Amino acid sequence: MKDIIIVGGGLAGLTAGMYSKRAGLDTLLFEKMFTGGQASTTNMIENYPGFDDPISGPDFAMKIENHARKFGLEIQYDEIISLELEGDIKKVFIENKEYQAKAVILAMGAEPKKLGLDREDEFRGRGVSYCATCDGAFYRDKDVAVIGGGDTAAEDAMFLAQYANKVYLVHRRDTLRATRILADRVVASKKIEKVWDSTVEAILGEDHVTGIRVVNVKTGEKRVINLDGIFIAIGVRPNSELIKGIITMSEAGYVLTNDSMETNIPGVFAAGDLRQKPLLQLITAAADGAIAAYSAQKYIIEAFGE
Ligand code: NAP
Repeated sequence: MKDIIIVGGGLAGLTAGMYSKRAGLDTLLFEKMFTGGQASTTNMIENYPGFDDPISGPDFAMKIENHARKFGLEIQYDEIISLELEGDIKKVFIENKEYQAKAVILAMGAEPKKLGLDREDEFRGRGVSYCATCDGAFYRDKDVAVIGGGDTAAEDAMFLAQYANKVYLVHRRDTLRATRILADRVVASKKIEKVWDSTVEAILGEDHVTGIRVVNVKTGEKRVINLDGIFIAIGVRPNSELIKGIITMSEAGYVLTNDSMETNIPGVFAAGDLRQKPLLQLITAAADGAIAAYSAQKYIIEAFGE
């Protein structure tokens, strides 16, 4: 039996792993795809303290993983398919195998939301993307749109402006929600045409995206924009399906914790973007991970007398 099992290898999970290994706890982290979480699909990180020169998301993710591994963190690439969290012994299941631990830290993060349009899924990978950093380079000298008005949309628009011929930023209001410094860059960019007060009504094309139809929410006026790709950046939703009905969460599916990252079940903690909190950022994910590991350590001492 492990001391701690961590579910999810984003920044919150890796930091929790680093802290729990330093505390001398036998820790196993499960990651279903690749470590780094949303950091690894970010182009440049410029607001993480200590990195005064911007660092690419994938480089950042690799550094954090290497850092955690230096303390001996064991990372297993498998998808958790179910969890039994009640009782002293927590059970974690991958296909065909059960793992046990004294405490579990949930750090499954969040993933991009969909617009919910007809054919959105069908066009994914054929002109529809949720990751500008991953797919931007395919759109060199082409016309693309970014949908959304938050930090992700602003960063994506600036990133794509380096490659694309033209970037349309389609936002449902006429002001950006993004942090001031990012919003100012977007507004100042001549390569980015701002399509304010507009939502996407349809994605157009046969085999590949050839355009979008947008509607102005104030005037009702419709416009077809011919383009090659659309990048959807309208926020994230928590990856909490696995723990639905087990762990207390908000209506939107974010896990509710106290300041010690404790969930409603003793010995189960949550950290990072999965958790209901005011600021979803790398710095808060790292902080959550550290606190969750500290709380799990305290719990193990109290519950198991070790
Ligand atoms: P977000 O802050 O939730 O912004 C989502 C944007 O999409 C908003 O502008 C929203 O419009 C719009 N939107 C939502 N649903 C929509 C729909 N159905 N149709 C059209 N537009 C829709 O999401 P985010 O930009 O992905 O950021 C998520 C979190 O990560 C935030 O906490 C953000 O600060 C953080 N983040 C930080 C950085 C950084 O620090 N560099 C980078 C990326 C992300 P309204 O404005 O009208 O609501």
